[in-house]
Amino acid sequence: MIYADHAATTKLDEAAFEAMKPFLLEEYGNASQPYSFSRKIKKALKTSRESIAACINAEPEEIYFTSGGTESDNWAIKSSAFVHGDLRAIITSEIEHHAVLNACAAVERMGFPVAYLPVDSDGIVHPSYLKENISDNTKLVSVMFANNEIGSVQPIKELCEIAHRHGALFHTDAVQAVGHLPIDVKALGIDMLSASAHKFNGPKGIGFLFVKKGINLLPFIDGGAQEFRKRAGTENVASIVGMAVALKNSCSRMIETTQKLQRLEKCLLQELKAAKLDFILNGSYLKTPGNVSLSFKNADGEMLLHRLDLMGICVSTGSACDSTTTNVSHVLQAIKVPNEYAKGTVRITLGCENTEEDVLKIAKSLEKILQRH
Ligand code: PLP
Repeated sequence: MIYADHAATTKLDEAAFEAMKPFLLEEYGNASQPYSFSRKIKKALKTSRESIAACINAEPEEIYFTSGGTESDNWAIKSSAFVHGDLRAIITSEIEHHAVLNACAAVERMGFPVAYLPVDSDGIVHPSYLKENISDNTKLVSVMFANNEIGSVQPIKELCEIAHRHGALFHTDAVQAVGHLPIDVKALGIDMLSASAHKFNGPKGIGFLFVKKGINLLPFIDGGAQEFRKRAGTENVASIVGMAVALKNSCSRMIETTQKLQRLEKCLLQELKAAKLDFILNGSYLKTPGNVSLSFKNADGEMLLHRLDLMGICVSTGSACDSTTTNVSHVLQAIKVPNEYAKGTVRITLGCENTEEDVLKIAKSLEKILQRH
């Protein structure tokens, strides 16, 4: 099998797995207990928090462990909406993941005005679009760091500055970016950032929300005193430890992984061009490494996905969470991919385990399916 759907999820880093094992089998104590058996567990949580914070230049007490990207997004948006008991506005973009879009839709139903910023044909939220829509009545701007379908990376620093000029907070869904792109929350001015471990070779069902010190964060789950009294429930220690190891490894290998993935992308595109296939490459020149979203003229993305599957290749049509619908995704609609191309879209997301042989096989298989069609 060739796995080329790394934006959907990734394989667990073996070092992360090894680091997790003792916390599943031997060090199973509850971190909240005062006896010495729990000391190691408490220490593991502390060092994991420190290690994760260092990867994005945050402080350890600014990291809150969650169950993943969806929870982090919901927490950031709903806490910002509800915290001051007023109905000030929220601004997001048209190309967000459904974790953000549906959290915004939920607060919109409660009376909070929500504006959805458009993007250009590369999938970029221009700072000018935000300037036109923001006012001193805006309480939160939430724009993703990098898009999950087409990989476009947003001008986060500029967007942050505009939000702050109007007294609004800035949240970014960085699920596709953490561990793949350099992120310095202090230099960028980010107030809140969502991340998910399974997108950077960590375990599934664990993630974190970065919240800048001083921000009034409402508890997301009420109960015990865990996570600074903001997110109750016994900690998922093994997964937290695995997430910290996976993130550290991803960050330390970032430059070489990026170079490798860019080489593989180039090889794939050259092969497809040489075969004279008619396609559009979606996204901007600044994108997450390994993301190749292609729209083939007069093709059917669903058919391509299933034919590739029969050939042992895993890719996606649009967003992974969209795979049950056959409609053109909201992202492809927002970047206005012409209809005769949009329906024939496949998202190939390469990862560090992929090889040149893999991408040549993907290209040859696409060639075979499309030329026969
Ligand atoms: N945000 C983005 C951009 C994503 O790509 C995803 C997952 O596909 C999520 C949020 C949801 O993350 P999780 O699967 O950890 O809930």
